[in-house]
Amino acid sequence: MSEPTLFQKIIDGEVDADIVYDDDHCVAFRDINPQAPTHILIVPRKPIPSLDDLQEEDREIVGHLFIAARNIARDEGLRDGYRTVINCGDDGGQTVYHLHLHLLGGRRMDWPPG
Ligand code: 5GP
Repeated sequence: MSEPTLFQKIIDGEVDADIVYDDDHCVAFRDINPQAPTHILIVPRKPIPSLDDLQEEDREIVGHLFIAARNIARDEGLRDGYRTVINCGDDGGQTVYHLHLHLLGGRRMDWPPG
């Protein structure tokens, strides 16, 4: 068995996090190094390493992550918009290999991203 990722440890309650939402399929918590006034990570309970590892059977999970993001954005009062990001692989800037959706808001975002 491979070593559980940091996010798996958060899901399992072995590492503390500021959890804002959880259900049967995902857990959402505040990023420890926020890049915006609101920066939340939405993580599937299923340990999928990255976007590139998605299987056909994961369609529902991916949809679930985005619906959760929309609901959390509403709860956070992000009425003027927000950004969702999934970093994939080293060139994509991924550092934790447990699939996660970043939800960023509370400031005007730049484009293109760095
Ligand atoms: P990635 O770079 O893989 O797309 O995103 C990983 C995110 O996890 C980063 O934004 C980073 O700040 C966040 N992160 C890293 N370690 C921790 C931690 O221990 N707790 C929380 N809540 N977030 C973390």
